[in-house]
Amino acid sequence: MLIKELSQEVKKDLKDYFQDRDYMVIAVPKKEPIRVYVVKATNTVETARRIHNLSPSATVAMGRAIVGALLLTSLLKHATNQKLLLKIEGDGPIGVIVVEADAKGRVRGFVGNPQVDTYLKEEGGKRKFDVSKVVGKNGTLTVVKELGTGKPYTSVVPLVSGEIGQDIAYYLYQSEQIPSAVAVGVKLNEDGSVRHAGGYLVQTLGGTSEKVKELLEKRVLELPSVTEMMEKGMRPEDIATEILKDMEPQLVGLKEIEYYCPCNEETAKASLFLMETGELEELFEENELAEVTCNFCGRVYRFDKSVLEEKREKEKREEN
Ligand SMILES: [Zn+2]
Repeated sequence: MLIKELSQEVKKDLKDYFQDRDYMVIAVPKKEPIRVYVVKATNTVETARRIHNLSPSATVAMGRAIVGALLLTSLLKHATNQKLLLKIEGDGPIGVIVVEADAKGRVRGFVGNPQVDTYLKEEGGKRKFDVSKVVGKNGTLTVVKELGTGKPYTSVVPLVSGEIGQDIAYYLYQSEQIPSAVAVGVKLNEDGSVRHAGGYLVQTLGGTSEKVKELLEKRVLELPSVTEMMEKGMRPEDIATEILKDMEPQLVGLKEIEYYCPCNEETAKASLFLMETGELEELFEENELAEVTCNFCGRVYRFDKSVLEEKREKEKREEN
């Protein structure tokens, strides 16, 4: 694990290296058992918008879920094959939001209704996207962790706000017993493309002094929104430093973030094999090719009738 003082030099190195790329930093104060995760995911959310042709409201809601899932990878062991799935199912018009993120910083997802209408609300004299209206206030948030033990761990909590950030904080407290502050934000350009997407997670682990807990709570409340900080040019390491100011923040982790879908012909074929043989036969009676579209990246895989023979042979092998 790299441990570096978050000095001006380190910040310059990070800026030179990552420039416009997406990444996450993990910072800790020198003394207290606190962890701060800050992620910049602007390009990643823009990629999601393009792949799924998301409307502005869908971009903001799915973008928040992408940032939230990336922050939740704090529950995974760094640089392993562990991954998690975040599923938000509210009663709003966007339907389900599914995001998968892994310990290596790769993320992908989809939403039920990518073309959901725009809902705005007035807040502090500004017009903002009303995410809770799009997601719905009633429903569930599910996290499925795959930790490489062969058995996935699933926990479900009710939605508490539909704004996603608070819902993730509630999940962390309720299911993982980790008191956390979570902020996720997405800001769009006039043309609907993503201007900023990012967020932070502050975890106070057992042994954090009450004084510091109170200080952090106050500090997080007083912080401008994530996208306001990003608009000022603040990078993840700057936001982490701001949260941990006067506590000698140190950089203990760093990873690049990208939208990545590992689907391939094999995984597409496997999903086709999940169909009943009879259904597949019917499909080929009406069509020359069977098409499988990946929910996560939109890639289309086409199979001809030989796949039917392959399925029958596979079944024969399994019977024996
Ligand atoms: Zn895919």
